[in-house]
Amino acid sequence: MGSVQIVTTILAAAITAVAVWLAVRAVMQMVAVVRLGQPDPSRSTDVGARTKVMLAETAGHTRMLRWSVVGAAHWFVMVGFVVLSLLVLEAYFEVVSPTGGLPLVGGWALYGLLTEAIGILGTISILVLIGIRVRNRPTRTGGKSRFTGSTMWQGYFVEAVVLAVLVMGFVIRGFKVATDHFAYPTWATPLSHAVGAVLPDWENGVSIAALIKISISMTWVIVIALNVTMGVAWHRFLAFPNIFFKREPAEANSGLGALRPMTSQGKPLDFEEADPETDQFGVSQVEQFTWKGLLDFSTCTECGRCQSQCPAWNTGKPLSPKLLILSLRDHAYAKAPYLLAGGGKDLTGEEKATAAQLAHVDVLALAEAEKPLVGDAESGGVIDPDVLWSCTTCGACVEQCPVDIEHVDHIVDMRRYQVLIESSFPSEAGVMLRNLENKGNPWGAPPNTREDWTKGLDFEVPRVGEVEDFEYLFWVGCAGAFEDRAKKTTRAVATLLHEAGVSFAILGEGETCSGDPARRIGNEFVFQMLAQQNVETLNEVFEGREPAKRKIVATCPHCFNTLGNEYGQLGGEFEVVHHTQLLAHLVAGGKLTPVQPVDGGVTYHDPCYLGRHNRVFAPPREVLGSAIGGGTGDAGLIEMPRNSERSFCCGAGGARMWMEERIGKRINVDRVEEAMSTGAKTVAVGCPFCSTMLNDGVNGKGAGEEVEVVDVASVLLRSVRPE
Ligand code: SF4
Ligand code: SF4
Repeated sequence: MGSVQIVTTILAAAITAVAVWLAVRAVMQMVAVVRLGQPDPSRSTDVGARTKVMLAETAGHTRMLRWSVVGAAHWFVMVGFVVLSLLVLEAYFEVVSPTGGLPLVGGWALYGLLTEAIGILGTISILVLIGIRVRNRPTRTGGKSRFTGSTMWQGYFVEAVVLAVLVMGFVIRGFKVATDHFAYPTWATPLSHAVGAVLPDWENGVSIAALIKISISMTWVIVIALNVTMGVAWHRFLAFPNIFFKREPAEANSGLGALRPMTSQGKPLDFEEADPETDQFGVSQVEQFTWKGLLDFSTCTECGRCQSQCPAWNTGKPLSPKLLILSLRDHAYAKAPYLLAGGGKDLTGEEKATAAQLAHVDVLALAEAEKPLVGDAESGGVIDPDVLWSCTTCGACVEQCPVDIEHVDHIVDMRRYQVLIESSFPSEAGVMLRNLENKGNPWGAPPNTREDWTKGLDFEVPRVGEVEDFEYLFWVGCAGAFEDRAKKTTRAVATLLHEAGVSFAILGEGETCSGDPARRIGNEFVFQMLAQQNVETLNEVFEGREPAKRKIVATCPHCFNTLGNEYGQLGGEFEVVHHTQLLAHLVAGGKLTPVQPVDGGVTYHDPCYLGRHNRVFAPPREVLGSAIGGGTGDAGLIEMPRNSERSFCCGAGGARMWMEERIGKRINVDRVEEAMSTGAKTVAVGCPFCSTMLNDGVNGKGAGEEVEVVDVASVLLRSVRPE
């Protein structure tokens, strides 16, 4: 070993030792923070399915590849990171000796080819990602970038390190070529040979270049170890457990669908026994999120995909799902020293730690602990109430997040505390909650008018109890029973079912609100009250029927979602379909025949709770395709730029239907402008709330005469029964 190699070896060993020590300390710190969260036993089930999904989403980049160029570039960088870690390891042999190489695979042409190819593609890919970050930097786009609010230096730093490590790999190989110590043939490593052709015959160059490569890599480790909230770097490791522990591993879009039940100490809360002095009601302190919540916050890569799709952020509201997650992350880590010293408030608000326990806690951590989790700027709150109440629970953030962060659950958990304990929520929504409690519907309509929509139909609508048997229970929903536009949809669906010879029955006055608006606003108490009543009624109706025959058809995606996905949490297992699914089935089976094509152009707005939350994208399009073209197929349907998974909310979800929209542009207006830009004369919807919002938007723009917003069922009915 020459004197240069002695120096390079000592320096490489020293910087590596420091980096490893800091990295171990950082990992222990992060584990300690995540462990502060509440238990969640549901995360350890289905290990096989979890492993499969984790591998598909990481190795296959199934979510990232939806963003084609970025996804492909990120895939090569990720693969490059894994494979080229071997080259960093190899550099440790090269600082010791210029002829050093990896044992076993070193010198194997296939290994040389693989690393060369990944090195080249990784370099091109990281340059693409740097280009995208620079082009979309917030200062250039006037803040309208998915990176707005991200810590830009961290992204640039990580990308610069990746680029430098890749480049140094070729420099090391080049020196080996120039000194004739390179074992791989030119056909397998053409770039390395090209670099070697311009480098001098200098053996020490190999060891010095290897030291530079190790130093850059270890500097990266040191920087991220000193910045445990640097998600843009840590997600390389944390994405694996975060995806593995997602809540429904077997489902494609597992962060959506059913809302998680309210839990205390990992157990679902039953309001008949729950006590706010001993049970946690929602989340009012960051440590009251589950450990998976804290892992979510730690894993955020700050990529901003969620932000770019969020209807609230896109219309000038203060809510960005990314910034919400980052605020919770920064707060959790800043408060952690206080919590780890034994600090924290019990459920009555009393401090748990003794003065002696807190004596050595940093003042900044103590100050952080005093911040309310939800509060305005004046009170120093971590999350502003306007942020919390701007969410429509549309799920675009969850859908887009490449590391499966569950934003909606966290938002609703914070709302639950605000509503149930603080009684703090937009006052106008109070009327809706009172109506739910007193009248069983958000409008406060007299329950005995639930069947009024049946008046004037040219056939008798069967009621449960009046008919011997029926295949489907038609769940009309509150909007379908009381709201004028939605009543037209209800009548259209009933007419089409009658026309197709489907045997169905309604509950009539036996129905009450599904509880969706109460649950989304955070009032789990009212939700459980309504849901239990409905589950009891439905279980009675379907008594003796096997689960697959407990069929319900619903016109409202919120009812469809709640009955189908959430009533199981209260002992109600039903087979629920949306009316567009059933109608598509009836058209395909020849039970309904469209005869008159609907003209003027039709576009379709995907309701969030039908599309993103439940993956029902094709059936409404099939129905419309048949009505437009006089047959099945989707010819003639004009898609909006934001459709299907990337559909833009109408603004009514998350109980926003019953809240004023005071900040920014109205979400429904934004969506209507997009719909009108297609030139379609008919905007078809599959949800009574979307119908109200988009109708209001069209009328607000003074376009009520030219553009009609109407349910898919009504479009089909016009085609089936042109008269
Ligand atoms: S659910 Fe929708 S509105 Fe709420 S934060 Fe996510 S994207 Fe924004
Ligand atoms: S999409 Fe996910 S990882 Fe990206 S910024 Fe949003 S929460 Fe973070």
